Amino acid sequence: MSKRWLKDFLRYINKVFLPEGCTKWAKDERKDPEIEPGTIWVTLLIGFALQVQSLEELERRAKESFKKLLPRKQRPPSADTIRHSSIGMELEPIKKLYIAVINKARRSKMLPTIDHYRVAAIDGTGIFRTQSRCCNACQEVHHQDGTTTYEHKIVTCQIVGGKPPIILGFEPIKPGEGETTASKRLVDWLYQVYKHFADIVVVDAGFAKAPFINHLCSKNIHLVVRLKDKRMHIVKDAEGLFSRQVPAKTWREDKSSTTHLDISAWDEEQFNSWDGMKKPLRVVKIVESRYGYAIVGGKRQEAIERHEILVATTLSKNEAPPELIREIIHRRWEIENTGYHELKGNWNMGHCFIHQEVAFQVILWFMFLAVNLFWLFLYRNRRSYANSGFSAREIAEKMRNALEYIRDRSLARYLFDTC
Ligand SMILES: [Zn+2]
Repeated sequence: MSKRWLKDFLRYINKVFLPEGCTKWAKDERKDPEIEPGTIWVTLLIGFALQVQSLEELERRAKESFKKLLPRKQRPPSADTIRHSSIGMELEPIKKLYIAVINKARRSKMLPTIDHYRVAAIDGTGIFRTQSRCCNACQEVHHQDGTTTYEHKIVTCQIVGGKPPIILGFEPIKPGEGETTASKRLVDWLYQVYKHFADIVVVDAGFAKAPFINHLCSKNIHLVVRLKDKRMHIVKDAEGLFSRQVPAKTWREDKSSTTHLDISAWDEEQFNSWDGMKKPLRVVKIVESRYGYAIVGGKRQEAIERHEILVATTLSKNEAPPELIREIIHRRWEIENTGYHELKGNWNMGHCFIHQEVAFQVILWFMFLAVNLFWLFLYRNRRSYANSGFSAREIAEKMRNALEYIRDRSLARYLFDTC
């Protein structure tokens, strides 16, 4: 049955997501290349769907079995050809393909929501760092011990609150610039290509900067942001006010027969004390006490863990009760956990496939495209997958195996419309 995973995946992405003739959109700077740019696209897309760990592995796998995915006149590219093509690849056609896939998923209502709101998280992460090589787009980081590393970082926007956790896009952080500056550019791009790309954006305390928040508000997108900096006036104001109040709401959540949470929320609107903010914000403080048991010195003892979160939001009390604000700020964690952790662990995002300003973006667009399509396939086409017990990594392995078993070129028609 292993065979079916790959064939079904390719048939599904062809039928539902890939626009007709899209491999012809590919353009690079090579003159009359023997291997067409569209072949490079397909090699990268399928290579990443199969979770290849390096360009060399992709070359080996492509040589061995990608012929079955390509039209008759085309042969699989070498690592050098992929490198050569990618450094002069046009990014706009790749983004056009990426956007087409996301828009199809959005129109078909395939994206998850939290209490009918579409929620996206924005965060930043390092892609790779090296001590030896650099390019025009490297961030130079000087360390205390006198060494210098060259790093590439990006900000991404990912849907949170359920499956599939679709990645809406990314933006490289340019040399000398911060996460919020790159994120403003990302928000502009997302808004330009998807319009209302989310109802709510949730971010960690590092993004609690007025220009970024004003920017989101100007696009009519709501914001939920964690506050940690005790020096901020709005934090002092809120803490002062809440210290004189009883909680606005308290509730209990049972986690298991022996563990439960007691949750208290303080909740006030109309805080004007955030310097530079164009509109007043609501602040919600959540205190969670987890009651459970721990084994201390061989004895079972009651253990209490206390956890405090302060959050600012543009959502009114009517639009979102404190329970929902709490869920949204907890779900933000998914961009780091199922997002970056999964991308680096299973899809090898932290590997430097090609170190060059354009090529590293080509790699990421195709990696994220493959990841999105893979998740859409597992969670929207193979609904039984969630209960199957298989991990995404095991499914990728089944697909790799299937590619070796399949003998004919019957798969190529799912990727190229001209064969
Ligand atoms: Zn670089």
